[in-house]
Amino acid sequence: MNADGSASRGEKGTGLVSVVIPVYCEEANIEELVRRTLDSLRGLARPFELILVDDGSRDDSARMIESAALEYPGEVVGVLLTRNFGQHAAVMAGLAESRGDVVVTLDADLQNPPEEIPKLVVKMDEGYDVVGSVRANRQDSFFRRMSSRLINRSVRASTGVDMHDYGCMLRAYRRGIVDAMLQYGKHGTFIPVLANSFANRTAEVEVAHAARDAGESRYNFWKLIRLQFDLVTSMTTWPLRALTILGGLMAVAGFGLGVLLLGLRLFLGPEWAVDGTFTLFAALFVFIGAQFTALGLLGEYIGRIYESHSAPWYLVRRTTRGRAGEVPRATPSRPLTPEPADVRVIKS
Ligand code: UDP
Ligand code: MG
Repeated sequence: MNADGSASRGEKGTGLVSVVIPVYCEEANIEELVRRTLDSLRGLARPFELILVDDGSRDDSARMIESAALEYPGEVVGVLLTRNFGQHAAVMAGLAESRGDVVVTLDADLQNPPEEIPKLVVKMDEGYDVVGSVRANRQDSFFRRMSSRLINRSVRASTGVDMHDYGCMLRAYRRGIVDAMLQYGKHGTFIPVLANSFANRTAEVEVAHAARDAGESRYNFWKLIRLQFDLVTSMTTWPLRALTILGGLMAVAGFGLGVLLLGLRLFLGPEWAVDGTFTLFAALFVFIGAQFTALGLLGEYIGRIYESHSAPWYLVRRTTRGRAGEVPRATPSRPLTPEPADVRVIKS
């Protein structure tokens, strides 16, 4: 550490550790989350900061986060977003606020035990860019497990990085990777995948996984579908290429079919052609279907281009960083209505 309290870059085993946690309607978990995470971080015997990002919760989460920031100045930082932007946008906002040499992300629902953070940090000391975690005996619903298996497999195929558990957000990133993510991260980017697209040395550690303590998974069916689309369209162009090839093959097959039908018409006579009508219809439907699929996917890509030019991925309403040494203010619940002058555009 430097005299002014900031951490020096690149010092093995002494640098600042930032922990970023996205929070969406987790009022039932926050107290325990903060207590257990701080305990775990204090045990590390290194400088650290815990950044809690409220992703536009509709419950008491935002207020609880701000009071935690004021109660533990120098340890907890609260970042409130103006509305619900989604888990990965919230993590991004936290990364932008972080100053650590190593940044660890995890979920707020205590499914990733905060006690496992030191394990990742120690692994990072071996010089890795990214350390992921694999969930030992996963405690999730069948549907959730299947969908994340699908995600893992498609990511592995498209990025070539062999990591197993992309759905698990308990991960550690080196500063350089975080900076690259902040610079190049676009709307709808899947953070663990983005990180791996920059990382050279990656490792995984096995961590415990608990069932969600309070509340339901914040991902319903449609949010999961959206996540899958985000993943495919933000990291890859191969679906477009595959569609082009498929379209080409279909056109050739269609042309072949047309020639065949013409031949049959010429050699077998007009009576036969009546039966052929149905074949033609079938072919037509196949083409129309294929076209719609192609158009839909194309729309996804265009929509993403549009999104990334039109609006910021997230907006910060207010950041609360109690100063170490400063007497924390007694916290009457502060008004949470957005004050226009305080709304900063962090990233467009
Ligand atoms: N989350 C968020 N914004 C959202 C949805 C979720 O910040 O729109 C947070 C949530 O509070 C939690 C993490 O992202 O800390 C993961 O959410 P959840 O546990 O619901 O997802 P799952 O465990 O089903 O992947
Ligand atoms: Mg969860």
